[in-house]
Amino acid sequence: MASPIWQPFTQMKAAPPPFTVVRGEGIWLELADGRRLLDCISSWWVTLHGHAHPALAETLYQQAQTLEHVIFAGFTHAPAEQLARKVLNHLPSELTRVFFSDNGSTAVEVALKMAYQYWRNQGEQRQVFLGFEGGYHGDTLGAMAIGQGSSWWQPFQPLMFTTELVPFPATFEGDLEVETKEGQVLDHLTRLLKQNGDRYAGIFIEPLVQGAGGMRICRPQFLQSLAKLVRQFDLLLIYDEVMTGFGRTGELFACLKSKTVPDLICLSKGLSGGCLPLAVTVATEQIYQAFYSDDPAQTFYHGHSYTGNPLACATGVTSLTLLEENPQAYQGLEAQHQSYLDQLRDHPLVEQIRVCGTIAAFEVKTDSANGYFNVIAPILKTRFLEEGLLLRPLGNTLYLMPPYCITPAELESVYQIIRRVLDSI
Ligand SMILES: *Cc1c(COP(=O)(O)O)cnc(C)c1O
Repeated sequence: MASPIWQPFTQMKAAPPPFTVVRGEGIWLELADGRRLLDCISSWWVTLHGHAHPALAETLYQQAQTLEHVIFAGFTHAPAEQLARKVLNHLPSELTRVFFSDNGSTAVEVALKMAYQYWRNQGEQRQVFLGFEGGYHGDTLGAMAIGQGSSWWQPFQPLMFTTELVPFPATFEGDLEVETKEGQVLDHLTRLLKQNGDRYAGIFIEPLVQGAGGMRICRPQFLQSLAKLVRQFDLLLIYDEVMTGFGRTGELFACLKSKTVPDLICLSKGLSGGCLPLAVTVATEQIYQAFYSDDPAQTFYHGHSYTGNPLACATGVTSLTLLEENPQAYQGLEAQHQSYLDQLRDHPLVEQIRVCGTIAAFEVKTDSANGYFNVIAPILKTRFLEEGLLLRPLGNTLYLMPPYCITPAELESVYQIIRRVLDSI
């Protein structure tokens, strides 16, 4: 019988049957038919230390025998306390309060609700959120509303609350226009804020790299100017580091790399090292204090059944320890990407190369328009699978986001295969 499973982000009528994975080890996935695939995208951008990592497996085993789950309102436990402190140790000191949830979308919903209620608790009605074109913040309704640049969600448009999106100053190697683009975005934002500053609760951005929007990169300088502007007009700066967190940009967090401080930061994907669903939204003391009150109406009424799950928190502690013990693993990948990209720099089908830490991306030139629905995506995906690589181009954007345990020789072989595939199409 065909599988009863309805797969995510998949048109079931057109899709070939999914691959059954029986085992993972490091960068490798082993399929039921015996083939091995090199996971070049860390599964859905979550696997930091490789699959079936022994230290994470041991942590899970120990924690499962101790405390698998407990209600998180009125109760706490060591894994959550340790993880909260460990995360805070690495974030700017202004960020002091950690709110747990289960995935990137919920981390964003929490940030949305916190930002909105932050103003409300102080007697201000600020209802509109700002965001960036091409932004992606998750698939729940609130997260969709601030990422509605995506054409996937056209049918849901009438259900979404109002947001205002400004262009994202995406840049790449050899981009001569970058300062002009950044200046235009900042001018545009300044105009909006001057006209109607007190309508806006906050502005959401994926700092340094927009993920699902096509691995679009902006400069740290832009984030610095943005942060300055946001301070000047007194709205909240909200960083969605669900993807960029935990070393992806070459430093532990994009806020550290850009030397900027948000009011709220959303973390998920790499938080548990890719083991279990887990997320946090971290707030500044100033935000927390706006909820700290004798009035029950000022409470943040939000929580999920699995909030602060001990198994997930325990793997989070171990994962962060692994990152602390070996920062070279994520810091070193940028130079490797840069060096192996030399094989592609002169390729006639390759343009707009960009690298940010562990992430490398470029556009594949085609006769059709750039974007998610470019027909080259399924063709490339199939060709790479034939060659043993798990790559999932976003339209004609090809990107690499490997687990940090990939060796230089393995990464070089990935680039060689990409070159071969591009030569063949
Ligand atoms: C993946 C992602 C989300 C959503 O996370 P889920 O765990 O899939 O809900 C939100 N923001 C960004 C930047 C992401 O990359």
